[in-house]
Amino acid sequence: MKWVDIGINLTNKRFDSDRDQVIASALAAGVDKLIITGTNLAESKKALQIASSDIDGLYCTAGCHPHDAGSFSNEALNEISAIAEEPEVVAIGECGLDFNRDFSPRHQQINAFERQLELAVKLQKPVFLHERDAFDTQYQILKDYIPKLKGGVAHCFTGTIEAMEAYLELGLSIGITGWICDERRGQALYDMVHLIPDNRLMIETDGPYLTPRDLRPKPKDGRNEPKYLPHIGEAVARAREQSLHQVAENSYNNSCKLFNLE
Ligand SMILES: [Zn+2]
Repeated sequence: MKWVDIGINLTNKRFDSDRDQVIASALAAGVDKLIITGTNLAESKKALQIASSDIDGLYCTAGCHPHDAGSFSNEALNEISAIAEEPEVVAIGECGLDFNRDFSPRHQQINAFERQLELAVKLQKPVFLHERDAFDTQYQILKDYIPKLKGGVAHCFTGTIEAMEAYLELGLSIGITGWICDERRGQALYDMVHLIPDNRLMIETDGPYLTPRDLRPKPKDGRNEPKYLPHIGEAVARAREQSLHQVAENSYNNSCKLFNLE
C-alpha cells in the first residue's frame, strides 16, 4: 500500500534535528510522497528548499496562511508568485480564512485569500485551502473563482455536513487528518466521512500538529509525523466501511491526480 501525506509542516523547527529520518520513516511506512505545507513567504521558501533536495517524492505548496495575512504585502505576493512557478510547488496555499482565532484582521485575511486565488488561476495550480469558523465568507469568495480554478482541497476539514456538501458541490476534494481519531471532538467528522465520494478523499497528518489521540504507544514527544498516516487511513477505512487497501488506493490516486504528482 502506498500513501501521500498531502499536508505535512516539515519546515517546523520540531523536525530540525531529524528531518531526513522523519522522511525515511515515512517511506518505510509506505508514505512515499509528501506535500510540504508553505504557510508564509519564509516557510514557502524553506518548503521549496526541502522539496528540491535529492530525495524523491517531496513536493510543496507556496502561499500564506490566514494567520500570517498581516505580513502579506505586495512584495510578499510577488515573491510567493515566483516560488510558485517552480515544478516542485504543486499547489497554492495554504490559503483561506480563519475567524476562529483571528490572528490577522479579517479584511487582510480576505485580501490575502483573493490574491492567492488569482495566483492559482493564473498558474493553473490547485489551491490548498484552510478554513476555520469562516465557512460563509470563504464559500462566497471561493465560488466566484471555482470555474477558473484548477481544483483544490479543503485541507484538515473539521466543519459541518453542510460545509462538506457545499465544498464537494464546488468540485473540491476533502482532506482528513488525525482529528478523526479523536473519539471526543472528532466524532462528527467520523460520522460524516462516508459522505465523501471515493474520488474526492485525501488524507494528511498536518504534523507536527494533530497527533492522533489513539496512537499506541503514544509518541514520546507528542510529535505527529507522516509515518502515522496509515493509522489515520485505518480510522477513515472503519468510518467508511471500506478496506484499508481501498482507502489507500483511492486517496493515493486522488492526490496524484489533483496535484499532478509523478
Ligand atoms: Zn490549515
